[in-house]
Order: sequence, then C-alpha cells, then structure tokens
Amino acid sequence: MDNLVTFLQEKESEMLEVLKQLVEIESPSRNKAMVDVLGRKIAELLATYVGGQATFIENKEYGDHLRFEWGKGEEQILLLTHMDTVWPKGILETMPFRVEGDKAYGPGTFDMKGGIVQGMFALHALSQLEVPLTKKVVLLVTSDEEIGSGSSRVYIEQEAKKSKYVLVLESSAPQGALKTSRKGVGLFRVKVKGVASHAGIEPEKGVSAIGELGQQIGYLHQLTDFAKGTTVNVGVIKGGSSSNVVAAEAEAEVDLRVISQSEADRVVPMIMNLQPFLEGASIEVTGGLNRPPFERTPQVEQMFVLAKKLAETHLQIDLQEMLSGGGSDGNFAAPYAPTLDGMGPVGDGAHARHEHLIISQMPVRSALLALLIKELGM
Ligand SMILES: [Zn+2]
Repeated sequence: MDNLVTFLQEKESEMLEVLKQLVEIESPSRNKAMVDVLGRKIAELLATYVGGQATFIENKEYGDHLRFEWGKGEEQILLLTHMDTVWPKGILETMPFRVEGDKAYGPGTFDMKGGIVQGMFALHALSQLEVPLTKKVVLLVTSDEEIGSGSSRVYIEQEAKKSKYVLVLESSAPQGALKTSRKGVGLFRVKVKGVASHAGIEPEKGVSAIGELGQQIGYLHQLTDFAKGTTVNVGVIKGGSSSNVVAAEAEAEVDLRVISQSEADRVVPMIMNLQPFLEGASIEVTGGLNRPPFERTPQVEQMFVLAKKLAETHLQIDLQEMLSGGGSDGNFAAPYAPTLDGMGPVGDGAHARHEHLIISQMPVRSALLALLIKELGM
C-alpha cells in the first residue's frame, strides 16, 4: 500500500509543473471564454495522466462544467472540485505564479487548482499502480463555485445522489485539518419603502425608510446566537437620496449562517417575514437558504476516522477535523451522501494576495486521497 505514497512522492516536481500550468490560465468565474480554456486544458491533462472519459456539460453563461469518469463499477465515489477563482482577469501581472522555498504562490493555488492537481495525481497513481477498485470514480470540475454554484448545483446534487461517498478537494483548514461539517449559508435582500418628504418643511409627512431599516438591522443582529452557531450579519446597506429628504427607500443585504437544518427552519422564516415597525413603511424580503448545512453525521464521522487512520499509518500525520463557517459545494453534496471536505491543499490565504500552498504537502495529500479512494472503493 505504501507504494502509492512512494509513487506520489516522486511526482512532486511534476505536480508543481502541472499546478503552474493551471494557475497561469486565469479563470475568473464570470469570464466564460477564459474558464473554458482552462477546462479544455484540465481534460487534456486528465487524458494524459489518467485516461478515463471526459464530458463537458455546456453552460451558456459561465464556463462549461467538466465531468470526468474513470474506472468501472455499479457504485461511484465522487470527487468535487471547481476551476474558477475569485481573481479578476489580468491578476497574473501583479500576482504571478511563483515559488519561494516550500511555498507556491499565485491566484487559485490554494483555492483550488492545487486540489485539482492532487486529485488528478491520486487517480494517476491508482491507475499506474493498477490498484483494484470495484467502484468508479467521478470527478466534477465546476466553473461557478466562487459565485454560488448557481449553474452547477443541479449536477453536483445529481452526482451526489448516485454516489456512495463524496470527497471535496477544497483547501484544508489550518494545519491541514479536514472539514467534517460546514455551516449552511442564507442570503437575503431586504427592501424597505417609506414616504419621501422635505426634512425641513414637512418632515411629519414622511416615513423614513432608513429609520425603518435601522430598526430592522437591530432586530436582525439580535437573531445571532453564538452558542447555537447561528449568525446574522447585515453586510451592505444603502438608501436615501439627500440629507434634506426623508428617505423613501433603503435596502440591506443579509448573510445568515446556521449549523443545522432545524436551525435554518427556525430562523429563515423570521427573516423572510420581517414586519415593519413604522406605520406607512413596507418591507419586501427576497432570498433564502443558498447552501444547506453540511452536518457531521455518523457516516461522515466514520469516513473521517478512516482518513485519520490512513494518515497516521501511511503518512505519519495526526489528521484533525473542524467545522467551517464557510460554505462549499460540499454543502450541496452532504444531504445525499457522506462527505469529507478540505481534502485539498495545505496552505493559506484563500481569496487573499498571499494565497499559497505547501509544495511538499502536495504529494502527501494526494497520497491520502489515493489511499482513501482505495479503501472506500474496495
Ligand atoms: Zn474553493
């Protein structure tokens, strides 16, 4: 079994070279043409390193999603990745791919092109070493994760429903910890309408939309309950037209995080059904739960225990787990199949200019993934 580890250790520089190729093809979520170029490159690399069957799922607005299938079997293991990044076109000019010591910097290294590379090489090792599996592996490489997975969600759910297990190659938590639960994420827009009037001449005839929104913000923020892991954040507000006008309109964007579906069921209606405090004001709330909570079920725990044992036995790593407040596509898969997330790179700085991964950990994490696929795929 340790030949998987040795095989991958010898591939470190090759993995780094492939990472460089992927990072140097920029892929902002909203630029279809650029993401499509990267998708074709990944398909080409998968053909070289793994074989298998790549199919593109056409997408009018964003990049085409890539579905890659390898191996045979009735049952399947799903690997989830995304190829888009939060970085705008032209970012490489000021934030180029670069290696400093054991760190590889650049847009998407950590989130999550490194995960794609590690997944590709794990399958490369399993195929080259002819490790016998009775399940097939499906690798999804989606194009719109960083903007909410609107066009990929249906495919993620569809594949998760067909899967025995799901492994998400998103970047790991600090010290390489896996993510065995993630909060659910709700997004809401609160639009308040009041009545405009001159703030000096006839203020009594106005109903301030800003005054109303201010009270709503107070109400929304007190829904936060840290003990329950529930948070409500009004992150954006706008409204009004001039300091001498009682504001006719105001609006806010609200972010909700919850640990469990039952908590989502409790809090979401409280936000959707906001009632005005001021007579003459009206409120319209749109939105809802965008990503359901990814809960740590007993099956998830079993997968983690297996991963921890493999890491300890074969890689001499004391693997940890954690709850993440951030959502990922793991949230969409977890309701349908036991899911382990954070299987991707070790590093830091997702969505920040110091984004990087630890180079020497690439073969290690790739080996952990290969070992896990081998055990789960038996
Ligand atoms: Zn990501």
